[in-house]
Amino acid sequence: MADEEKFDAVVVGAGPAGTAAAITMAKAGLQVALLERGAKPGSKNVMGGILYNHYLEEIVGDDWKQAPLERPIIEERRWLMTPDAAISFDYKNIRNRAHPHSYSVLRARFDAWFAEQAEKAGALVVPETVVDRLIVKNSRVIGVGTGRGDDVYADVVIVCEGIGLGTGLLERTVINGTPLRRKLRPNEVAMAVKEIMQLDPGLIEERFNCESGEGCTVECFGDSTMGMSGFMFIYTNHDTLSVGGGALLSEFNKTLRTPNDLMEHFKQHPAVKPLLRGAETVEYLAHLIPEGGYRGIPKVYGSGYLVCGDAAMLSNPVHREGSNLAMESGRLAGETVIRCKELEDFSETRLAEYRGRLDHSWIMADMKKYDKAVPLLEHNPQMLTKYPQVLDRALDEFFRVDGKSKWAKQNNILKMLRKEGLFRMGWDTFKALWAMK
Ligand SMILES: Cc1cc2nc3c(=O)[nH]c(=O)nc-3n(C[C@H](O)[C@H](O)[C@H](O)COP(=O)(O)OP(=O)(O)OC[C@H]3O[C@@H](n4cnc5c(N)ncnc54)[C@H](O)[C@@H]3O)c2cc1C
Repeated sequence: MADEEKFDAVVVGAGPAGTAAAITMAKAGLQVALLERGAKPGSKNVMGGILYNHYLEEIVGDDWKQAPLERPIIEERRWLMTPDAAISFDYKNIRNRAHPHSYSVLRARFDAWFAEQAEKAGALVVPETVVDRLIVKNSRVIGVGTGRGDDVYADVVIVCEGIGLGTGLLERTVINGTPLRRKLRPNEVAMAVKEIMQLDPGLIEERFNCESGEGCTVECFGDSTMGMSGFMFIYTNHDTLSVGGGALLSEFNKTLRTPNDLMEHFKQHPAVKPLLRGAETVEYLAHLIPEGGYRGIPKVYGSGYLVCGDAAMLSNPVHREGSNLAMESGRLAGETVIRCKELEDFSETRLAEYRGRLDHSWIMADMKKYDKAVPLLEHNPQMLTKYPQVLDRALDEFFRVDGKSKWAKQNNILKMLRKEGLFRMGWDTFKALWAMK
């Protein structure tokens, strides 16, 4: 890059949000620079992860079929755990074979491929480049300063730096006395860890009851997170398993537990251990997840800039969605900039159209719906501790063949549920399922 180049748009960060924005604008003929701090896009990125192909297809069309995806997800499993039991709800949908809507991915492979699509569309992709500041002049963002010493100017800067807790550009940049994003509270962020564990593809299929090339998800609540607000997961890749999970940072602080404690506890659970037997950890990763809900969303546009994806706190942890909100918000930001370019109007008022596009999309509908979902679990720990144990005892009584009549068993179960607060349990569960406020 020559010193002091000017682009229509500079995008900070080649994750799903930034690359989606860059492809959208480059396809429309705009001059776009996509700056990424990693040696290669994806090299620093962490996700569980399950990727939703619908959003990828919206951006790259049929080329999504060439993406380095691991396994289509045919079965979703949810386990409610106590220390020595797992109550499972499994949904195997064979129609997903013909029409998969989600795939397991490894971000180091996927992000690199996705950024190549941005390059093919005409964007200038520059890895190994840390953006160390937003350049502000007369209260407007006019470009970025990079760790290479170059200043890069643009009509608009799209910030897709991920969560950037504490050190991010949004928290560090102050315009008219106000930072572009306030500091996040520990109960608005989850700390997540993940191990990539190598296992023979045949063994993966045998253990997880999958046909050749197909995959499943296992997500575990309750004792799996030692009662903390969050969940653990196992996702099947081609020849590895992604094993991990997380909980609110505030709960790690409160309990003095570490993410490593959580991983070890999960891997030793009697329902999990046999699934991982013989699998060798080849990578250990940790990352933060925004969980501030609708109220945690910062101002996503301003004079000379837009904010997308995790940087804008757009994530739905209840449904383990984040990459799709990132891609969709990146696309909407890209479309807004295309419109600004057509009108040759990059004023803040025109850039505000991005917020309007978000407000009219499913993104904000979902963000509003799940606004209180994380606080609901945070303030009702019994939902992840006591309730699974009560259910475990009820199911034990129901299934155990021990000389008691079924009438006696039903009465025992009802008595026990009443004693434990049947109405409260039912109401809490209903609220959690519908993420009610
Ligand atoms: C353990 C875990 C499991 C998850 N599982 C799922 C899942 O199964 N499905 C799902 O949809 N979502 C999942 N998510 C969420 C998902 O990963 C995020 O929502 C998504 O990655 C957000 O994309 P993004 O582009 O906004 O940010 P990121 O993916 O964080 O990308 C930000 C990019 O910006 C770069 N960058 C940052 N700062 C700078 C800088 N100053 N200069 C240059 N480059 C910079 C980074 O290197 C990175 O490439 C998971 C997250 C975690 C942590």
